Amino acid sequence: MTVTDLTAVVTGAASRRGIGRATAQALAAAGWTVAVLDLDEAGAKDTADEIADRHGVQAFGLACDVTDEGSVAAAVDTLAADAPAVGALVNNAGITSPTRFLDVDGGEWDRIFAVNVRGAYNITRRLVPGMAERGFGRVVFLSSVSAERGGGVFGGVAYSAAKAAQLGFARALAREVGPLGVTVNSVAPGLIDTDITGDALQGERKEALIAGIPVGRNGRVADVADLITYLCRVESGYITGATYDVNGGSHIH
Ligand code: NAD
Repeated sequence: MTVTDLTAVVTGAASRRGIGRATAQALAAAGWTVAVLDLDEAGAKDTADEIADRHGVQAFGLACDVTDEGSVAAAVDTLAADAPAVGALVNNAGITSPTRFLDVDGGEWDRIFAVNVRGAYNITRRLVPGMAERGFGRVVFLSSVSAERGGGVFGGVAYSAAKAAQLGFARALAREVGPLGVTVNSVAPGLIDTDITGDALQGERKEALIAGIPVGRNGRVADVADLITYLCRVESGYITGATYDVNGGSHIH
């Protein structure tokens, strides 16, 4: 089994400065064929073109709303017809919100869970059966330090709850599919420099957060992408059900 015969699917990898795009690049550099699935079709195709250019591997950029089962099914069907078998899934698509609990309403709560939790379910449910059948698979969830320490970075209670739900999802799935050759792990990044917070995290507030990080800086997307790529290696098969912190020491436990 070698990753050059397999496709790695990365959701939410259109965003130019995002963790997903950097992860798709790192996986391609390791030899994977890459499929980028995102709400933003033009961005997904742009990521795929950039990957094919830089790494000389096949890359697919597909429109996909992970919250919509039909949209996920259509993207997975396209890959089944055109791409090598899927060997890895990175559940990266996510949204955040800083709304305080005393202000959050049910609609916002549901939106946060729809993308981070139900979205991850929709695509994982579609892809893991094939991995199990072939006896090889790697699934990685993008959780967050917010799940572990109870917010305190940017996201509010809804985000922390959704990211903690991902940890339980990953751990229980790891137990179920381990015997079938599929590993399931989570990464829990701290503050990473991307556009997920829009312009809402700036100036003094950002400086105060960085002051609480022992290594003295916020994280870079490559810090997370490299770890995910390591977890997806064929040789990483004894690592499952684990959560990896990538937070510069901002939460040590
Ligand atoms: P980002 O906003 O840069 O990228 C998120 C991507 O997800 C975008 O391309 C967006 O179009 C896509 N997306 C959103 N909803 C979608 C949907 N319904 N279907 C498909 N795609 C969808 O975010 P990022 O900072 O790169 O974060 C990536 C992941 O890492 C998220 O799950 C986030 O919660 C997690 N994370 C980020 C940080 C951080 O500090 N940036 C920290 C911890 C965890």
